[in-house]
Amino acid sequence: MTDMRIDGVETVIVDIPMRRAHRFARAGMSAQPVLYVFVRTSGGVTGVGEGVVPGGPWWGGESVETMQVIVEKYLAPVMLGRRVDEVPAILRDCADVVAANLFAKNAVDTALHDAWARHLDAPVHTLLGGALRSSVPVTWALGAETADVVADEALEKLDSGLHASFKLKMGALDPAADVARVVSVTEKLASVAGVRVDINARWDRLTSLTHLPALAEAGVEMVEQPVPGDDVDAMAAISAALPIPVMADESLRTPADALRLARTGAAGIFAVKTTKSGGLRACRAIGEVAAAAGIPCYAATSIESPIGTAASLQTACTNPATAWGSELFGPLLLAEEMLVEPLVYDTDGLHLPTGPGLGVELDPAKVRAFRRS
Ligand SMILES: [Mg+2]
Repeated sequence: MTDMRIDGVETVIVDIPMRRAHRFARAGMSAQPVLYVFVRTSGGVTGVGEGVVPGGPWWGGESVETMQVIVEKYLAPVMLGRRVDEVPAILRDCADVVAANLFAKNAVDTALHDAWARHLDAPVHTLLGGALRSSVPVTWALGAETADVVADEALEKLDSGLHASFKLKMGALDPAADVARVVSVTEKLASVAGVRVDINARWDRLTSLTHLPALAEAGVEMVEQPVPGDDVDAMAAISAALPIPVMADESLRTPADALRLARTGAAGIFAVKTTKSGGLRACRAIGEVAAAAGIPCYAATSIESPIGTAASLQTACTNPATAWGSELFGPLLLAEEMLVEPLVYDTDGLHLPTGPGLGVELDPAKVRAFRRS
């Protein structure tokens, strides 16, 4: 066995151009900043992880800049000199040094898993207990533009055969106008594609109870996070009032959150992201809670580049509860391919790569080309 001791931790920020600007309720982005974390071992193996947030700190308070400081100044010293297969112990010690900062910890957790798996010449999913599937369907996320614009984009995507359902962002408009817009899109796509909506915690309980029934009636399949993440009581009340499932995203970060949501009946579906949860191990625990509670999971995205997408995919394919597919379309939004060999998307969805580690290789020339400084 080659030497698994960690002798180097390096970070690089890249700004990857996007095919089109992606809009959220209060934020937008035309390039995606990504922090790559490289963990090197004395045995000559390098693992890579990705720190990424959807366009800025609006979602969870972290950004690539905060992650770089946290990793370089506080987490790297915890890792150096340790064996890369001591992931649980390293993560525990990281948690003793740094509270919260789960997006930064995800980058470290992913890099450690990638390096560990490469030492074993095994895919990361083997370390997570083995894959239950070899691909996941991929929903396409539409932006917050007008009904005509997003319906046209949806129909174009349907023609490609890569996507059979769509998620619309809500919360940028007055609720009544926003509902009218989504009802219009849902009608245009009726019987050809499923429509889901993400309100990104912009509404309160009363607004949700007033306006969401019209969406359910129009045929929307699922409503994601209508109210702020910590308002689990409102999530439960809305779940009880609607005939369609409510998906928890901002409300679900840790396995303890998963347990609380399951116990209170506050979520019909879990949006699982390695980013917001601090990595692959936490997602595995969330998947086990979900499976035990009979709650289906959805592999959600923070608009990862292919590295973070591969980490999410490895996780989703081992999660026994992944029944609502995924939105792992991050690489399809980017204008540049960051890998030597791209991830494979086809009519079955996104395919789990078979190689060691994350199963993908970053293209060093692309990292140099889009490096911020
Ligand atoms: Mg969301």
